[in-house]
Amino acid sequence: MIVLYSDVLAWLRARAKPASAGEAPLFSDAELDRYARHIYLREIGGAGQARLKRAKVLVIGAGGLGAPVLQYLGAAGVGQIGVIDDDLVENSNLQRQVIHADARIGTPKALSAADAMRAQNPFINVTPYVDRFAGDLARQLVAESDIIFDGSDNFDTRYLANDLCVAAGKPLVSGALSQWEGQLSIFDPAHGTPCYACVFPDRPAPELAPSCAAAGVLGPLPGIVGSMMAAEGVKLITGAGVPLMGKMLIFDAAFGQSRQMVLRPRVGCPVCGGKGLDAT
Ligand SMILES: [Zn+2]
Repeated sequence: MIVLYSDVLAWLRARAKPASAGEAPLFSDAELDRYARHIYLREIGGAGQARLKRAKVLVIGAGGLGAPVLQYLGAAGVGQIGVIDDDLVENSNLQRQVIHADARIGTPKALSAADAMRAQNPFINVTPYVDRFAGDLARQLVAESDIIFDGSDNFDTRYLANDLCVAAGKPLVSGALSQWEGQLSIFDPAHGTPCYACVFPDRPAPELAPSCAAAGVLGPLPGIVGSMMAAEGVKLITGAGVPLMGKMLIFDAAFGQSRQMVLRPRVGCPVCGGKGLDAT
């Protein structure tokens, strides 16, 4: 058994070898063992796992959607993860936000999430920001990140994240929830997709888009949709599969059904110009 394990490690080391001889190994044996199920995947392999380790991402919100995005990106070995949220953990969050513990009620969500992620995977760097996603900090965090995940719960943040990502040419993995239904897409006009404002040019009236607090939400639904957002992130970083670019996936938990919609850039979009694929 020991021989077999050392053989596996040797094989993993070979699959995840540094780019040039003399360079320090990127992964310790414990990391190779931890990420073996990724390294075995032909579409990810050692090169993909190395890309995950070198990636720097930002997750906006450590609530319903942000929590599973954070948990799975952290477990998957994304090397640098920023999380920004100015809310505190509340008792009523814990029906669905499983990254937070009962003992954390009253503490900042960003700190609670970062602690949970470090406890789960000590091989990653997590930087929490107990702050609103706004102003110069928001601009700086987007500029520093390769990919931005929007797990926020309000339209001000969604439109700001879109504005900043379009301006910086960064992909935005966006998700949203309503009661029994969730949706996600990757907005990346720099690579031919529409932006968030192309698809949602106007803010819905508050009575048409009630918050989870007002309308209710199925407990496992954020876990499903947030995990899909994390999967899209892994695909973007590693180049595996076909990311949800220019398409929206809609999942209806009440009927166990999913469907995809094709999204098109909107001519005259004030944020991205609506060029997208139609202009290329
Ligand atoms: Zn647009």
